[in-house]
Amino acid sequence: MNTEKVSNYFGSQVFGDDAMRESLPKDVYKALKDTIRNGKDLDLNIANAVAHAMKQWALEKGATHYTHWFQPMTGITAEKHDSFITPTKDGKMLLSFSGKELVKGEPDASSFPSGGLRATFEARGYTAWDPTSYAFLKDETLCIPTAFCSYSGAVLDKKTPLLRSMEQLKKQALRIVKLFGHDDVINIIPTVGPEQEYFLIDKKLFNKRLDLKYTGRTLLGARPPKGQELDDHYFGNLKPRVSAYMQELDKELWKLGIYSKTRHNEVSPSQHELAPVFTTTNIACDHNQITMEIMKKVADKHGLTCLLHEKPFAGVNGSGKHNNFSLSTEKGVNLLEPGDNPKDNAQFLLFLVSIVKAVDEYQDLLRASVASCGNDHRLGANEAPPAIVSMFLGDELTSILEDISEGRIAVGVEKTSMVLGVHVLPDFPKDTTDRNRTSPLAFTGNKFEFRMLGSSMSVSDTNTIINTIIAKTLKDFADKLENADDFELEMRNLVKTTYKNHKRIVFNGNNYSDEWLKEASKRGLSNLDSTVKSVSAFSKEKNIELFEEFGILTKEELLSRCDIMFETYEKSMNIEALTLIDIINRQILPSCQLYMGDLAKALNETKLLVSNISLNSSINKIKVIANYIENLEININCLNDLVNTIKSNDNLEQRAFSFYENVSPQMERVRIICDKLELLIPRSVWPMPNYGDLLYSV
Ligand code: ADP
Ligand code: MG
Repeated sequence: MNTEKVSNYFGSQVFGDDAMRESLPKDVYKALKDTIRNGKDLDLNIANAVAHAMKQWALEKGATHYTHWFQPMTGITAEKHDSFITPTKDGKMLLSFSGKELVKGEPDASSFPSGGLRATFEARGYTAWDPTSYAFLKDETLCIPTAFCSYSGAVLDKKTPLLRSMEQLKKQALRIVKLFGHDDVINIIPTVGPEQEYFLIDKKLFNKRLDLKYTGRTLLGARPPKGQELDDHYFGNLKPRVSAYMQELDKELWKLGIYSKTRHNEVSPSQHELAPVFTTTNIACDHNQITMEIMKKVADKHGLTCLLHEKPFAGVNGSGKHNNFSLSTEKGVNLLEPGDNPKDNAQFLLFLVSIVKAVDEYQDLLRASVASCGNDHRLGANEAPPAIVSMFLGDELTSILEDISEGRIAVGVEKTSMVLGVHVLPDFPKDTTDRNRTSPLAFTGNKFEFRMLGSSMSVSDTNTIINTIIAKTLKDFADKLENADDFELEMRNLVKTTYKNHKRIVFNGNNYSDEWLKEASKRGLSNLDSTVKSVSAFSKEKNIELFEEFGILTKEELLSRCDIMFETYEKSMNIEALTLIDIINRQILPSCQLYMGDLAKALNETKLLVSNISLNSSINKIKVIANYIENLEININCLNDLVNTIKSNDNLEQRAFSFYENVSPQMERVRIICDKLELLIPRSVWPMPNYGDLLYSV
């Protein structure tokens, strides 16, 4: 039993507010807090003082190294460790860390994906400190959250655009709240709470599955007799091993100041979820990256493997990451919380319709932000939201907006202008009971929950886009409202017409139904049902204009991101295909052929002993197995040929499309045969753990 008090170690590995206040001179502390809280520019003198204090703090905790921790386009984090050691003239050493080293780093970055942005002659990118995200200690190393750029200024990471988008959103949202008379607001911060789903399986079994090892998912495996049909895993009690794992995981996360809050079993056997308390978006993003890393590490210590892939097992639910988001003032006032007076309600409704408009106009960008090889198995597979982006607002809120758009009621800042008796918006339900679980983007009372993200993905791309598209609509609104002769009239009109023009994106029904597919197409909503079809959202003229207007990414950077997406897709698919070929050729086929031979031999011998028996059904079984083996060989050779043919095409986009259009269905064909074969072969002969073993291993 662990008897240590949580308050004793919470945040102990973070150079957070307490550590700063204790170790920094008062004026430095104040200046740094100003930078963090109010987005003020950072002074280099402050950086020097902070670096010194940070080093002392880290050394006391046993640190030996520091690293600029960054988020390249791989979607995971990167770090290169430098020790604090500096030689002195007398042959001794000093432990040093300067403001310069804190603020800027130079990792050798030539091998990170850049989509051709970083020519080899300027291979060295640099990293720049993000003072709004606290430094932390991991494995005796002081980790400094940073952004990553090339020397010519090209953005090479996921953090830079995110920070820029937050800045833009702040700017535009501030204009709006000021129009409503909230002059005291200094900062507006987007907030995110990502719910992280994952699978836990036994490590020994994991190690026996090459597909899990190389690709993170099972490429074959017949369904076990029991899947998730009994719903007995969701919120079920935790098995002792899982409980011990979650206990240690929480402790490690708490040490890092991550507010891990909720943990429970998910729908599929072996599937679980962790949700932290929400925080500022870029911090939520950093925390989620760390969380995923720690989840894997702690699992390893418990003889478990944590699978973050979007679809580790066919036939049971995959894993997503629900991105809950809202907007908050620096004082913690939630701007998506309906108010309790007409003025605040009007402001709420304006923000709300701005999101409706943003999502409608940039559906394709939101969709593209969650596109990946792994997530292709989820979206549209009737367990996760479809690939069509739509919004759930709930009946109550929708009918209010309908009334407004039809002129039955009006929004206003004066009490009297809310006609037909709706002076105050009702409290919208925040509980989970009557929520629409099938919607890709649901309003849940005082925040939105975007459910399309895959479990293994960084939340940064999605939130960069959410922030940017909302900034865009708010800017349009603010431009109109600031120049309006009659603010109230213009505002009323905006809410009314915006909802009217964009309500096609609102859908409160069942997103899994076939009717919705038809209805969505009638409404002209886009249905990008795969990664390869989604990528071009980033190269569309309208979207490039958006990113350039707000200085988030340049055209060149966006096009390079398209290349990275195609490249990543192609590489992942190639690895999957090669892994499947290897498993079939060197594990499945040899085992099955041996078994067939043994069976034939045994039958022959039996016949010699028992002469008056036909053994017809056993002989038939051999024939059936022989047929499957033959079929499997033909199809695996075909897969091999397909992969080889693609290689000779020198057009990246076409190669990615070929993987999607030809390789993926061929892999499915192989799998179907193999899964049928598996059911004819004794467990003792099948060369790897089966689905039942894996899903019920812990
Ligand atoms: P559910 O599973 O019902 O969706 P959870 O409690 O598991 O709900 O997760 C809800 C998530 O939403 C939590 O991470 C929570 O911190 C987050 N959240 C709550 N309020 C906000 C907000 N204002 N902004 C962003 N995230 C929020
Ligand atoms: Mg949720």
